[in-house]
Amino acid sequence: MVDSIRIRLTLWYTGVLAIVIGLLCTVAYFIFWRSTVQRTDANLVELSDSFLVTLRAELEDQSGPDVFLAAAHVAIDEHHFRDTLYAIADLTGKAILTSLDTPSANSPSKAGRKVLSSASFQNFLDASLHTDRLFSQIPVTEAGYRGFAQHFTAKGKSYILIILQSLHPQKQMMEEAGSAFAWLIPIAILLASGGGYFLARKSLAPVVAMSSQAGRIGAANLHERLAVQNEKDELGHLAGSFNNLLDRLAESFDRQRRFMADASHELRTPVAILRGESEVALSHQARPPEEYRESLRVLHHEAERLTRIVEDLFTLTRADAGQYPLKRSDFYLDELIAECVHSARTLAQAKKISLTFEGAAESPIQADESLVRRMLLNLLDNAIKYTPEFGRVTVACHRNGKEYVVSISDTGGGVPAELRPRIFERFFRADKARSRSEADGGGAGLGLAISRWIAEAHQGQLELARSDSTGSTFTAHLPVDSGPSISSS
Ligand code: ADP
Repeated sequence: MVDSIRIRLTLWYTGVLAIVIGLLCTVAYFIFWRSTVQRTDANLVELSDSFLVTLRAELEDQSGPDVFLAAAHVAIDEHHFRDTLYAIADLTGKAILTSLDTPSANSPSKAGRKVLSSASFQNFLDASLHTDRLFSQIPVTEAGYRGFAQHFTAKGKSYILIILQSLHPQKQMMEEAGSAFAWLIPIAILLASGGGYFLARKSLAPVVAMSSQAGRIGAANLHERLAVQNEKDELGHLAGSFNNLLDRLAESFDRQRRFMADASHELRTPVAILRGESEVALSHQARPPEEYRESLRVLHHEAERLTRIVEDLFTLTRADAGQYPLKRSDFYLDELIAECVHSARTLAQAKKISLTFEGAAESPIQADESLVRRMLLNLLDNAIKYTPEFGRVTVACHRNGKEYVVSISDTGGGVPAELRPRIFERFFRADKARSRSEADGGGAGLGLAISRWIAEAHQGQLELARSDSTGSTFTAHLPVDSGPSISSS
């Protein structure tokens, strides 16, 4: 198989062209031959009419016993042409006079003799007995003869006039045309295939250019794009699609890069604190036990924070790779919410925040219980974290058609309007200093990203429904039965 499209196209083009030209020439050859034969037939009819006029005129002029033969001789003499033979037969099928019997009719050739004595001629003569007019091909020489037979009466008797016309000149003309075709066609095909190759090369040149451009694009220069010459043609569409693909890849690469940079940045802080704190603890020979206890408390806290970040990162990475199959089970959402509220109560009490769950009717759901718990705890944790002392956090749940709507409202300071669209981004924190502070539990900005992914993995959604200076409300929509989906971000 030829590997180059240019050559394949040229070969196909040449092959199809050769077949089309071959067919056209064959058809043209037959049409031409047919019209030549028709013209010959018309000539034969004219010749026959003129022959009979002469014959009849001679019969009127002459008298005597052999008057018919004499008149026929004269008519043959007068109508003698090269490559034409005459014969007159009676109705028994016997030739009574032919061109050969007319000495004055300029020496009928050897070929003529052969024709008139041939079996083909006799067959034609026999066939003409049964019909008034007959045309036929007489394949006696290489080129063959065209024969015409016509019945006529003279002096009260019926005869058959037969005129044979050699097809040699016509055949010769056809052969000359054929041999001209024989060298013209290959030259035409050769020229056309050269042109075809040139065109294929020219039309595929942009593809070659695009392929070498594409070959040069790698991770380092992912922002380069293919040149689009005409965005409306097919190659323009191809280049456009390729560029769109590169856009998506570049965006995904950028996201990954940002993710890596943010992740390492987030990990660096607790690691630095761990190192610093342990160095301080080890630097003094003897320290009061309270100081060691304090150092250990800080170490423990940072280790917990580190563990949480690593777990969150692991969750998101698995979710991105689509490798986080949901473990669905049947449970009651209202019970799970009550459980989470109970767990968060200690945190709330520490800040003297009133935490209430308004309760809900029985809410059976089929979902991944541990993921939904994680989402609820994240939202509760945030609500408490971003609400000042003596504030209020309220949780509500109700069914709306085929989904549950869980809302968690707080009386915190809200999210600034310009930051609202970004709070679900990974590593995004509205107030970095505050949310990383120890007192607030040191979030890494992954909580909402994971919570939204959990809602979406259940075919639901999580949104910031309200946020102003009086507080915020996050609303999670969870389908009653989210179907057998495999999670991915
Ligand atoms: P973090 O670990 O910082 O809490 P999250 O992804 O959970 O990360 O939240 C991202 C940001 O959204 C937070 O840094 C905070 O600025 C804002 N945010 C989240 N929940 C609330 C809330 N209930 N009230 C005000 N701001 C909030």
